[in-house]
Parts: sequence; C-alpha cells; structure tokens
Amino acid sequence: MKPLVLLSTDQALLGQLQAAFARSAPQLRVVLANDPAAQEAQVAACWFPPAGSLSALPNLKLIHSVAAGVDHLANDPAQPALPVCRVVDPAHRQGMAEYVRWAVIHYHRDFDLAMAQQQQQLWRRHPQRPAGEFHIGVMGLGSLGGAIAAELAAAGYAVRGWSRTARQVTGVRTYAGEGQFDAFLQGVDLLVNLLPLTPQTRGILCRDTFHALAPGAAVINCGRGQHLQADDLIHAVESGRLRGAVLDVFEKEPLPLDNRLWATPGIIITPHMASCASHDCIAQQVAENARRLACKEPLLNRVDPALGY
Ligand code: NDP
Repeated sequence: MKPLVLLSTDQALLGQLQAAFARSAPQLRVVLANDPAAQEAQVAACWFPPAGSLSALPNLKLIHSVAAGVDHLANDPAQPALPVCRVVDPAHRQGMAEYVRWAVIHYHRDFDLAMAQQQQQLWRRHPQRPAGEFHIGVMGLGSLGGAIAAELAAAGYAVRGWSRTARQVTGVRTYAGEGQFDAFLQGVDLLVNLLPLTPQTRGILCRDTFHALAPGAAVINCGRGQHLQADDLIHAVESGRLRGAVLDVFEKEPLPLDNRLWATPGIIITPHMASCASHDCIAQQVAENARRLACKEPLLNRVDPALGY
C-alpha cells in the first residue's frame, strides 16, 4: 500500500497521530508532508491542513478528516475535488452525551442560579421542575444529535429535534428544514446545537433564534464557533432574554484573551473539550478507508460535497 500522509498545523497532534497509527495500524507507512515519500501518498489524514498542502500531493485520491467535522479542511483553500471522509466514533457520541447531560442538569436543576446565589451568600430554593416540563431543542439529528436527543427523551425530558430532512427519533418530536425552524424553537427552554458548519448553518445562533425561544432559555453550543453570533448572545444574556450559555467551540481557538465572552456573567466557556475521537479509533478508521480505497471498495463515512457534511 502507498504511504499515508498526515497534514495539520497542530504539531503536537501530528506526533500523537503518528504514535496512534504505529499502535493501531502498523501495516501502514505514515509520513509527514516534508518526507519525500509524501509525494506518493494517496490518502491524507487532516486536521486544519496547512494552506497549499493538499494540492502539493500529486497522487492524492482521498482526503480524510480525523474528526467528525470537515469544516477545518477549508484551512487549505486550494482543496482538490476529491472524495472526503470523516471519523464517526461511538466513544465520540458517549463523550458528547456526557457533556450535554451535564449542561442540561446545570440549567434544569438551577445550578446556575445556586452558583450565582453563593456569590451573594444567598439561601433561596427554587421550585423543582419535572423533567417532562423542561423543553429541550436539539439542532442536528445526525450521529451525535440523534443519539443525544433520544437519550434525553429516555431520561424524561420533553425533547424536540431539528434536521435538514425529516428524521424519526424515538421519543423526540421532530421538525425539518427552514420552514419548520420557528415552530421548532417556540417554547424551547434549552437549545443544544449539534449542527455541522455549512453555508446554511453559519451564524444560525443569532438574535432572531434567541428571541424565538422561551423567555429565560439557555443555549449550549457544541457545533462550531461560526454558528454563533457572539455579540447577539452577549446582548441576550446581559439583557436577561437568555439565562445563560455553555460554549465549547469558538470562531478563533484558543479563545483570545480579550474576547468579551470570557467575562460575561452567565456564559460558561470550555476549551473545545465536549468530545474527541480517540487517536486509535482515528487510526483504525482512516486505515480501513485506505484499505478500501486500494481495494476499490465503498468508503465509510463519506461526506456529501454538495451538502458540505
Ligand atoms: P452528522 O453529519 O452526522 O449530522 C448532522 C445533522 O445536522 C443531520 O441531522 C443533518 O440533517 C443536520 N443538518 C445539516 N445541515 C442542516 C441544515 N441546513 N438545517 C437543518 N439541519 C441540518 O454530524 P455529527 O452528528 O457527527 O456532528 C455534528 C457536528 O458536531 C460536527 O459537524 C462538528 O461540527 C460538531 N462536533 C463538535 C465536537 C466538540 O467537541 N465540540 C466533537 C464532534 C463534533 P439530516 O439528518 O437531514 O442530514
């Protein structure tokens, strides 16, 4: 089999992935872009590939994201028109579910209020709201959002979900397409974003979206930073229209020190930690697709280039 090349602006990640390929796919010869053997590579495994790095590989036949999302591939603006695949890891789903569960409980059981009260040494109990009266809206019902919506519904929450095409998810009221977006948002107490970043979803967490939610709703953004119009969020939280937000992803990562999101009361910042595919799982899935490519078998987890996810 031809060598596989790793492309990323993240030098530490390159080393970690090399070690994972050596452990989990030792049959593959894995090289970096500066190795002359990279010129023979037919598969590039990428996370924020440097500009120009993909088109510099004359024999490339497959671009493989090492993540669930593929938006980071645009870091190389000269991306050749080749098949693109992504990683879908069950452990990824588990990690995301844990993160979202924590944020759901944080707002459903009023931990945000209790923590703010502690600052004032204020002892005040709030009425306990049954889970079935807490309305959660999940944007994106794919491999992550679909599983998480079903899990929250099984835990007793009133869950609805929104996707591009009509989906059925056990226990979840589903909505599809732009035409049903407003109906989906009405009365939602907690909005969870698990959409991929595409031209259609960029900036979707904006003033109009926040205003359609129940007054005092909260927002969790685990999709991508570019989904969020940060000034709109800050205004909605400062004005009390929203009670708060948990943000895991940002337009610029790490979040710059002077960004107002850091210091806005009610906004919780986490460092893109909601969920990571294990490096060994990445190595196994990329290696399997490299084998399939060599054997002319159908590729796994292929991205639709027209849809961008
Ligand atoms: P999938 O591709 O499996 O699912 C995407 C879902 O979004 C589908 O339900 C799809 O609809 C829906 N969707 C796409 N475009 C639109 C649109 N225009 N309007 C309405 N719905 C739309 O993605 P995953 O579940 O695997 O991952 C989702 C995203 O989560 C990733 O792209 C990534 O950005 C983010 N992520 C974040 C992580 C973190 O640590 N914070 C970790 C992993 C992923 P349909 O079902 O009709 O196709």
